[in-house]
Order: sequence, then structure tokens, then C-alpha cells
Amino acid sequence: MRNPAPLIATLCLGLLVVFLLLRPKAPEPPTPPAIPEKPVPSNPTALSFLAENPAWTTLEAYQHTISRSDFEKLLTEIFTTDETWREFIVILDEQAEIITNSDPAEPPFVLHFATPENTHPTPRLWKDTATRPIPPEGKPLENLHIAIDAGHIGGEWAKIEERWFQIGNVKPVTEGDMTLYVAKLLKPLLEELGATVTLVRSTAEPVTPLRPENLASLAAESATDDAASLRKFAERLFYRTAEIRARADLVNQTIRPDLVLCLHFNAEAWGDPNSPTLIPRTHFHILLNGGYTPDEVRLADQRFAMLKKILQRTHEEEALVGKTIAETFAEISKLPAYIYPPGGNNVRSVSSSPFLYARNLLANRLYDCPVIFMEPYVMNSTIDYARIQAGDYEGLRIINGQQIPSIFREYADALAKGLAKHYAR
Ligand SMILES: [Zn+2]
Repeated sequence: MRNPAPLIATLCLGLLVVFLLLRPKAPEPPTPPAIPEKPVPSNPTALSFLAENPAWTTLEAYQHTISRSDFEKLLTEIFTTDETWREFIVILDEQAEIITNSDPAEPPFVLHFATPENTHPTPRLWKDTATRPIPPEGKPLENLHIAIDAGHIGGEWAKIEERWFQIGNVKPVTEGDMTLYVAKLLKPLLEELGATVTLVRSTAEPVTPLRPENLASLAAESATDDAASLRKFAERLFYRTAEIRARADLVNQTIRPDLVLCLHFNAEAWGDPNSPTLIPRTHFHILLNGGYTPDEVRLADQRFAMLKKILQRTHEEEALVGKTIAETFAEISKLPAYIYPPGGNNVRSVSSSPFLYARNLLANRLYDCPVIFMEPYVMNSTIDYARIQAGDYEGLRIINGQQIPSIFREYADALAKGLAKHYAR
């Protein structure tokens, strides 16, 4: 018998043609990357609260500074968490086309990639590790300007900013006061190592002149909730948005450091601040900028900031400095690495260290230089709560059955040693 395969193949092909001609109009298949469509985002002009219109032309300084493969790798492996960026960024062989916040009919911002024949140096205001001169013996941080940003405000603002809890009648735990205390211990340690150090804040007062009442109308425009929710919203716009934007202005326009250390103490959900839940575990991680969510990529100012971070190559520096700090800090504090619950769309793990994660926070996005955002200890863990209640002291004391230094000194010492180790190399 003759081989039936050619006949069957012809029949199948015929049926396929008939099907293709008669089928209802299906959605377009995904565009292959080589010949992409020009995307038109639904609302490219949307901005975050209190954000200014981004100055896209400032990115002209980065033409021919990054290769296509570095750009794509940073964008897809660190800075974004899904494919939403494809609505706004088209990567071609020699350039990327980026939808700005302007009228979508306007041409996109065109970023030309570096090529082997045409590579320009990356313009940056901060000194990176790779090109620093070798520091003198004993002064590994010489010629380095470090800003210390003690997280939150503390003092009378601690309750409003929800970084306050109290057990019984003993001293309440207020993160903003604890971070400022560590900042003041850390400053002389870094100066001893040769650094110039500036505190972003040195009191428990806000940097921003705005207060919740100044932001009430903005809150009302943006939400239709009841009075209590509106008040909470205005407060959040004050202590989070306006405060961190004011600190960013100070960092970027006045301090202009090579590195910012954002100091925080971590916590897990504690419920009622007057009767908080204590948990039996403590941990540590460091956050670098990255992990932009789909909604964040859709906001023109955040998309612009993400591009600027990618082009300034801050991630490479943050990962390098962060890795040594994390290793040293973990060795001294014995804290285990925090593991983010799986499935979140706002975080990327950084492969070089189990302690490093990329997340898009207002501070590490807006500060115009590498930022090491520290999240050691868990304030409402039984272990660290006992240490916080013990307060600051010199030397060692028995707490939780172990001879240990004060939590504040351990924080400052371990961070200073990590920085010394990194920059001594
Ligand atoms: Zn914090």
C-alpha cells in the first residue's frame, strides 16, 4: 500500500486553511521582540502623590553608556516583577524607546545603547568602589561622604507614624528614636574610619514643613472614605510621602553623598499597639532599589526613576556594598536571613546574597546615589524586645541567657565593620 502520510498532511493543511479563514477574530498573538508594536499606555501621565513631572531630557546624559544586554538584564531581573514594562518600553537592537509622561502621540524617549565601537562613561555624582583610589591603611572610608538616614521620625510623631507599641507600663518601643540613637553611635565610628558623615536628621522632628492638616485636601481629592480614613490618609501623606520627599531634596541638593545608609529596625505585624503580639523569631535583610510593581511601572515618575536608577548603575554598587555589609552584619549579630513569602509582586531576590532583596521604596528610589536600606532585628520578637528594653550599655550583659552587647551598639559596630571591610578591598 502507498504511504498515506502525504495525503493526510495535505488534508490537514486544507482543514487548517479553512479553519483560519472561518475562525472568529482572535486576539493578536504576542508581538515578537524583533518587530515590536508601539504601545499606547492607558494613562501615561499619571504621577505618584506629590511627585513632580519627570525631566526626561536629563536622561540624554546616559546615551551610549549601557549595552543592550546589561539594560535588558537589569530591567527584567532586578527592576521589574512582571511583563508590564513592555507596555512602555520597546527594546530594539540599538536603542530602547520609552513612553514618557507626555501626550502618547508625542515621540518616545529614545535611549541609544552602548556598542563595542561607541561606549561613553556613565556620568555620576557619587564615587563608586571600582574607580576609588586605594585608601590609606586604617582609613578605608577616606574620601567617602556617607549620609545616615535614621528611618521614621520618632518622638511625639511615633504614634501617628505607627512605629510605636507598648507592653504594660514600661517604656514604649518607638522605631524612629531607636534608629536616631544608632545613627548617632554610628557617625563617630565611620568618621574614625575616614568618612565624612552627615545625618539626614538629628532630632525627632520632621524634615518636611508640611503637616497632616496641609495634606487634608489632597487626601480628600484622592479618596471618598469616611472622616477617620481621610485623617489617616492625610497623616500617611505627611509622615511617609512628604517627609521622605523632603529628605530626598536634602540628600540630592545639599548633602550630595556617595552612599546613603537608611537605618531601620524591622517588625512583624503586632496588631493592637497597646497590646502587641510578640513573636519568637528574629531576622535580617537589606533592601536595594528594584522590584517595581506593575502599578509602579505605569506611573510616569516611577518609570522615570527606575530608568534613571538603571542608567546610573546604582544596583551594581548597592549589590557589591550590600553583600559585604550583609555577610559581616550576619556574622556579628548571628541574625538569620529573612525570607520573603513566595508569590509577592513587589520584591526580587538578589542572587549574590540570601540577605539582599530588591524593593522599590520611596527613599531608595528618590535618593540619587546608592542606598543601603537596613532591616535588621524584629522589634516585636521576644528576643529583640528584651534587648530593646535593656537599653544601651557598654560591654556585655546576660539577656535571653546569653552574654551580648547592647542591640544599638551591635547594630552600629556591625554596620561600621561591614563598610570598613568592603572599602578596604
Ligand atoms: Zn522602619
